[in-house]
Amino acid sequence: MDCGIQVPSSCLLCAIGTECMDHLFFQCEYAKEVWEFFFATTSFAPPLDFTNALLWSKAPSPNDKLSVICKLIFHASVYEIWKQRNARLFGSSPPKSATQSIKEIQTIIRCKLAGLDCEATSLRQRATHRRQEVQPSYLHHWFEFFQRNPVPQAQHQQTQPLPPLISSL
Ligand SMILES: [Zn+2]
Repeated sequence: MDCGIQVPSSCLLCAIGTECMDHLFFQCEYAKEVWEFFFATTSFAPPLDFTNALLWSKAPSPNDKLSVICKLIFHASVYEIWKQRNARLFGSSPPKSATQSIKEIQTIIRCKLAGLDCEATSLRQRATHRRQEVQPSYLHHWFEFFQRNPVPQAQHQQTQPLPPLISSL
C-alpha cells in the first residue's frame, strides 16, 4: 500500500538486514534478544518465522495458564518490536534498547496477569458453595518460568555468552 511515506528497505532496528516481517520480528538482533530473553531458558519456543509463530501462538502449551502467558509474550513482543520500529521511522517517541523493551513487555504482562488472577479469585469466591482445588495463579507461573532481570546487551556479552538460539529451529 502506497501511503506516500518513504520507508527505507533496510531494517530500522539494526540497519543491517532487509526489512521484512520475518527479519523484523524474529531474525533481527533486536528481536532475537527479546525472544531469547523470554524463551531461551524454557521449553516454550516460538518458531522464528511469522506465519509459523502465529500458528504456534494458538496453542503454545498444554497447560492453560502457561499457554495464556506464552500468547501474551508473543503478542506483547510483536507489538513492542513494531512500536520500536515505528519510533525510529517517525520519531514519535524516544527509541528504546531491546533491554528497555523487555522491561516494558514484562510490566505489561505482569499487569495483565494480575488482572486475570483477580478475575479468577472473584469467580472462585462466587462459587464457594462448590468445592474447588486452588490452582497456582498466573503470576505464580510467570515468576516460576519467565521472570528474570534483563541484562543490557553490552554487559550481557561481556559477562556470559548468549544462550543458544531457540531450540525449535
Ligand atoms: Zn534488523
